[in-house]
Amino acid sequence: MEFKAYQQGAMKTAVYPGKGEGNWTYPALGLAGETGEICEKLKKAIRDDGGKVNEARLAAIAKELGDVMWYIAALSTELGLDMDAIASANLEKLAARQQNNRLHGDGDNR
Ligand SMILES: [Mg+2]
Repeated sequence: MEFKAYQQGAMKTAVYPGKGEGNWTYPALGLAGETGEICEKLKKAIRDDGGKVNEARLAAIAKELGDVMWYIAALSTELGLDMDAIASANLEKLAARQQNNRLHGDGDNR
């Protein structure tokens, strides 16, 4: 599935105040929450399973990653951004860093 198609499909299922009106607050908070849910499951893998991610936890994390994607789609939409363009720009940025041997280190503009 292409990112643009995913972004459009995600917004068909979006229900929140100010949807499609530039309300970036709601999806930004949701994105943080869903990211936290992933971290929580990984934390429990450390606490309960010696750091191993079992099949059940892996399936649960995959669902949470989907939730993260949904909120990325909603946030991108509310900010007027295209996920295809975001994905392409990100890969281009990382490829340039790799070519310049600057994948490691700090700073957004390496
Ligand atoms: Mg979730």
